[in-house]
Amino acid sequence: MSHTLHFYHMISKELEFAIRDIADFPKPGILFKDITPILKDAKLCTTVIDEFISQLNGIEIDVVAGIESRGFLFGLMLANRLKIPFVPIRKKGKLPFKTVEEPCELEYGSAILELHEDAITPGQRVLIHDDLLATGGTVSAATRLVQKLDGVVAAYAFVISLDFLNANVKLKKVTPNIISLVAYQ
Ligand code: AMP
Repeated sequence: MSHTLHFYHMISKELEFAIRDIADFPKPGILFKDITPILKDAKLCTTVIDEFISQLNGIEIDVVAGIESRGFLFGLMLANRLKIPFVPIRKKGKLPFKTVEEPCELEYGSAILELHEDAITPGQRVLIHDDLLATGGTVSAATRLVQKLDGVVAAYAFVISLDFLNANVKLKKVTPNIISLVAYQ
């Protein structure tokens, strides 16, 4: 095993150990992956960003778009480290300026997501970030928002992915660059 792969596995294990499972939250039948224990550990937060940066090596990114609300946490940290803009994707009615909007189907419920219309300029390469990839409904709506502004989705980055839900299949049609630090098979 290469050093890089070895470190990736160590990081995955460390993160997996920190993530807290909460049964039946926010609805019966949902096993909620709580990332707040990671946030309490400054060193582990830095590890998350270091690992994202390492896996993004060679991929050109102009903007990080983070999805409300847990996608803001590491999204802003990542953008700041890359010294590029961070733009928030929010639920309808939260962003103050003119927006574009897209409906999205969620694992629990549905919503409309918005992005400021000046968040991305045509041709910019955007990394879409959220804490967790489940069915992919949320990031698909985020993808459509970026594309509505003529941005290019160049990568996706998640702390966690629930791979047994197979969202990767639809994301791979957009870009092969899909990063997930802890994948549940
Ligand atoms: P989806 O659209 O199904 O991919 O769901 C992803 C969004 O819902 C992300 O913003 C996650 O934060 C949240 N989410 C979905 N399922 C879970 C889960 N089991 N634990 C924590 N967050 C979840």
